[in-house]
Amino acid sequence: MSVSEPAGGEEVKQAKEVEDAEYSFMATVTKAPKKQIQFADDMQEFTKFPTKTGRRSLSRSISQSSTDSYSSAASYTDSSDDEVSPREKQQTNSKGSSNFCVKNIKQAEFGRREIEIAEQDMSALISLRKRAQGEKPLAGAKIVGCTHITAQTAVLIETLCALGAQCRWSACNIYSTQNEVAAALAEAGVAVFAWKGESEDDFWWCIDRCVNVDGWQANMILDDGGDLTHWVYKKYPNVFKKIRGIVEESVTGVHRLYQLSKAGKLCVPAMNVNDSVTKQKFDNLYCCRESILDGLKRTTDVMFGGKQVVVCGYGEVGKGCCAALKALGAIVYVTEIDPICALQACMDGFRVVKLSEVIRQVDVVITCTGNKNVVTREHLDRMKNSCIVCNMGHSNTEIDVTSLRTPELTWERVRSQVDHVIWPDGKRVVLLAEGRLLNLSCSTVPTFVLSITATTQALALIELYNAPEGRYKQDVYLLPKKMDEYVASLHLPSFDAHLTELTDDQAKYLGLNKNGPFKPNYYRY
Ligand code: NAD
Repeated sequence: MSVSEPAGGEEVKQAKEVEDAEYSFMATVTKAPKKQIQFADDMQEFTKFPTKTGRRSLSRSISQSSTDSYSSAASYTDSSDDEVSPREKQQTNSKGSSNFCVKNIKQAEFGRREIEIAEQDMSALISLRKRAQGEKPLAGAKIVGCTHITAQTAVLIETLCALGAQCRWSACNIYSTQNEVAAALAEAGVAVFAWKGESEDDFWWCIDRCVNVDGWQANMILDDGGDLTHWVYKKYPNVFKKIRGIVEESVTGVHRLYQLSKAGKLCVPAMNVNDSVTKQKFDNLYCCRESILDGLKRTTDVMFGGKQVVVCGYGEVGKGCCAALKALGAIVYVTEIDPICALQACMDGFRVVKLSEVIRQVDVVITCTGNKNVVTREHLDRMKNSCIVCNMGHSNTEIDVTSLRTPELTWERVRSQVDHVIWPDGKRVVLLAEGRLLNLSCSTVPTFVLSITATTQALALIELYNAPEGRYKQDVYLLPKKMDEYVASLHLPSFDAHLTELTDDQAKYLGLNKNGPFKPNYYRY
């Protein structure tokens, strides 16, 4: 058998080294004992992450918008309660400002409570806010953002404002906005343009209202999915003359940035926070370990003990799903294309099978590959009655849902986000969220996980905004390893966790700086 190099193999380059003084801001905000992570010390390595080989179109459909990263999808308000479009309404906040467009400004008080509840489990971000408030590292920053608008992102937005930034914000997903939270932000003076249940036209209108403003020009972008960046490129390329950097959160958005970079069209530095270790491990692994059960329970009330479940893909998300299901007594099968992940699944005690081998017997099918057509119409035809089918991967391409929209099959909406697809012989397949990402659509995401992501985003913005000229070129960068470690260290006090400090002797023996980074960039955790 011949072994060939993978197409588009990844090249990892080292960027310019950074001088000690450059991280002085970090040193002042940490106020951690020396043994904890400090930033004002030795030279820092920056990894320039390679261009991935994805071929996604920049002008994709809105239905795929940013479903690969998310925030809590739950909202206690229902967009159907008022049919008047927010665009048609005249609303002002209590200070007389109408520099926003939300569903109903009167929900602000309710939204404020939601934000305060989120703050309870986002202590790392709050401590960053408190420590840096005096220094205002984002003074002069004009951030245009496009993320999910939830209580957790509101904590991020208000942190950025407390650190000196002016923010204008739209939603990266047409369904995920918590209307009451958007109202609370608007009441607090943030220019927010978002509501739950936007149309596609609304979606782009909201983005446009954030970018296209008389007398205000953004100098930083925080994006989740790449739509905002795409809009600026397409409509207002001149804005990039003032932009100091883009921080991108999602797999999809990061793919787009690498494509731009590869084509030589990226005209500002960009930070890929999606691939920071703290994001990948917590968002993908630990978060999915919890939210897979939440999503399935809320929609189907299924009992997992003794159920046969097949999980397609044993990456970070798959590992989390499998661990949770196994812990509840389910019999779990795994499908994989990659022998390394397949072997990991074997070592973890899962049977690795082809989907076709188990499709007749399983009670639940879960996709988490990031791939397309993993569950085909043929698989769906062979499933047993009442089989539950859902997707935890980034977009609605993993299950061939389109193939189910044929005249011989009947669709019955039995609950919100739950469809029974009925075959002519009476067999029913239970399809969740129409094949969209289950936990985005049907459950909440733990606030603590979102705190980690939000802290990473805040630090990436601070770093790009304050970086001296030349530190970052027009390319895509990973968050420096040391900042990744710093994000983790900020979250340790929540657990009263006590880090062990290297002795001088040990540090010398391992060839490490006592303050980190503690691992090389290639370390896999
Ligand atoms: P990953 O790359 O670590 O894992 C995906 C795995 O699927 C890989 O091991 C790959 O070999 C395997 N795979 C690919 N095609 C396959 C096929 N046809 N059959 C079986 N296995 C196949 O990625 P990840 O971090 O686990 O993320 C998976 C997906 O979930 C991505 O789309 C990601 O954007 C999304 N995601 C979802 C959530 C969530 O909350 N639901 C969170 C983070 C990421």
